[in-house]
Amino acid sequence: MSMEGSLTARDRVGIQDFVLLDAYTSETAFMDNLRKRFNENLIYTYIGTLLVSVNPYKELGIYTKKQMDIYMGVNFFELPPHIFALADNVYRTMISETSNHFILISGESGAGKTEASKKVLQFYAVCCPSTRLLDNVRDRLLLSNPVLEAFGNAKTLKNDNSSRFGKYMDIQFDHQGAAVGGHVLSYLLEKSRVVHQNHGERNFHIFYQLVEGGEDELLRWLGLERNCQNYRFLIQGECAKVSSINDKSDWKTVQKALIIIEFSEKDIEDLFAILASVLHLGNVHFGASALGYATLNSSAEVHWLSKVLSTDTSIKFSNNYALEVYIVIIYHFQVLSPFTAEHAKYARDALAKAIYGRTFSWLVNKINESLANKDSTRKTVIGLLDIYGFEVFDMNSFEQFCINFCNEKLQQLFIQLTLKSEQEEYEMEGIEWEPVPYFNNKIICDLVEEKHRGIISILDEECLRPGEATDFTFLEKLEEKMCGHPHFVTHKLADQKTRKTLERGEFRLLHYAGEVTYSVAGKLFNVATQFKSSLAGLTEILMTKEPWYVRCLKPNHCKQPDRFDDVMVRHQVKYLGLMEHLRVRRAGFAYRRRYEVFLKRYKALCPDTWPHWKGTPAEGVQRLIKHLGYKPDEYKMGRTKIFIRHPRTLFAIEDAFEIC
Ligand code: ATP
Ligand code: MG
Repeated sequence: MSMEGSLTARDRVGIQDFVLLDAYTSETAFMDNLRKRFNENLIYTYIGTLLVSVNPYKELGIYTKKQMDIYMGVNFFELPPHIFALADNVYRTMISETSNHFILISGESGAGKTEASKKVLQFYAVCCPSTRLLDNVRDRLLLSNPVLEAFGNAKTLKNDNSSRFGKYMDIQFDHQGAAVGGHVLSYLLEKSRVVHQNHGERNFHIFYQLVEGGEDELLRWLGLERNCQNYRFLIQGECAKVSSINDKSDWKTVQKALIIIEFSEKDIEDLFAILASVLHLGNVHFGASALGYATLNSSAEVHWLSKVLSTDTSIKFSNNYALEVYIVIIYHFQVLSPFTAEHAKYARDALAKAIYGRTFSWLVNKINESLANKDSTRKTVIGLLDIYGFEVFDMNSFEQFCINFCNEKLQQLFIQLTLKSEQEEYEMEGIEWEPVPYFNNKIICDLVEEKHRGIISILDEECLRPGEATDFTFLEKLEEKMCGHPHFVTHKLADQKTRKTLERGEFRLLHYAGEVTYSVAGKLFNVATQFKSSLAGLTEILMTKEPWYVRCLKPNHCKQPDRFDDVMVRHQVKYLGLMEHLRVRRAGFAYRRRYEVFLKRYKALCPDTWPHWKGTPAEGVQRLIKHLGYKPDEYKMGRTKIFIRHPRTLFAIEDAFEIC
């Protein structure tokens, strides 16, 4: 702080905590501060204890062991903002209060969520006490990342290493603060990517790693050739090679990681056989018979499929029943009517997606077995939630609907936990507080998930009417039930002006973060209920823990360093609710510090408290602020903390501190 305390320094590098901004309600002032800091390579800024991070898209050399040492065990506000400071603060609060915590890392694709979560994990791996035995746990925790990323991340237009699943990871600590175990939950893997990639995008990394990096013998055994161009599932995006990605060396990393996480040789073999089966499946082609039924034209692929999946090669792959045979053998499904060529392709893709989806779940389970702590003594936990941000595309499908609903729920949790904890703190400290008005998005959550009346319930009902229900009857039902709802609109329900912006097969939700128009096409293949209940499970896990937030911002669309696109960042500031958070944080009292911390930092400003104060810290603070001439309405003394209403009061002493 001393580095940034003087006026000139503040002009140049901005202010390290938005709470201290004089014009705190002004979005322009907020943006100015963010930009100033970004231009000085200061990517982190606080809003109280919330950390705002702007992706620098370049190595800043700020994550070294030396940096970790600097931040370890130092009070939050005493050093420039950093992800390590937050990690350290959470850790120390957990130890001192024996309480459970979670760090919610949010932001749009490419904003730096996964990098931030890795930095937190690395900080704990390096800084927590350890033993030889625990080094093992630590390594597994760290190495679960490359494995999950290989199977769950992919190159997209927005991010060369985009997480295509939501991830919640618990790190468990024993009473001495050593990391002793972990647990991973995954959400909504984007399975459609297995069979289809948009232009400029890739399938999941692991496929390219296998083809590029797999040993000759392994590829021969799997019937694969070392050429991604030969596999339909790998080349739809026309970018199998990406300059920022080294598939060969990533393959080696994943191999090593799998061994350390204790996958057996057989597990690893099975895993690659399954990946190969997906690639072979992708190359299966269908023709059409005179009757219009699917005919299978890919005997080589079928041969390899049977081989790698160890299915019975003596099965007769008759034309009409070819896919049926696979399904019966692999998944015990009974499909008895012959497919048309179109249906057969659909079934092939559905099978590939199902195989991959189940493999991913199996992988997560295996990782969890390896991370599980067998000792039954009580643990405290820090959860890391790296979850996809709000998504708006030109065409928004069911996947975006689920992702945006997830963000709505997390926003609701944020409102409940932040306001609740703020209120509780004032109550506990015996301080009067006037709540600030804020937009409560519960109305939107209800619109989606309310029993019998929400969108998901209506979707469920429609799914129970096979043959009768269609995408359009679903839309009609929505229109009937949601008519007049302030956050729901369709072509039919819209006023004249809005109608022009909506097609007939669409509905629009007015999310807390903005409007999104969804297509109803294909929504009747419904997994929304399952997603809703897994989200409810996540909310339950989070509700019992103390929240910490990292909000990641993306400075430009081109993945370029030193480029800060104002319009784009302003938009993110808005939908991440940063101004709102700042207002809540500023309402009542902008700043609070425990007496002993406050005294330790500022005692040099008063001859009575310097160098040693003999009384209680509260008395010391009382003496100190009397000396500083605080007016009664500028501060309040709580039970354990001093609360300061305006940041400028604190500034004054920071500046005085600087001078002395
Ligand atoms: P998605 O939602 O697509 O998974 P994300 O928010 O997880 O996106 P990351 O994968 O963490 O985004 O970051 C994207 C890229 O930005 C990284 O691969 C890295 O190149 C760069 N990056 C992110 N954070 C930092 C950082 N703190 N320092 C340097 N580069 C960073
Ligand atoms: Mg990510």
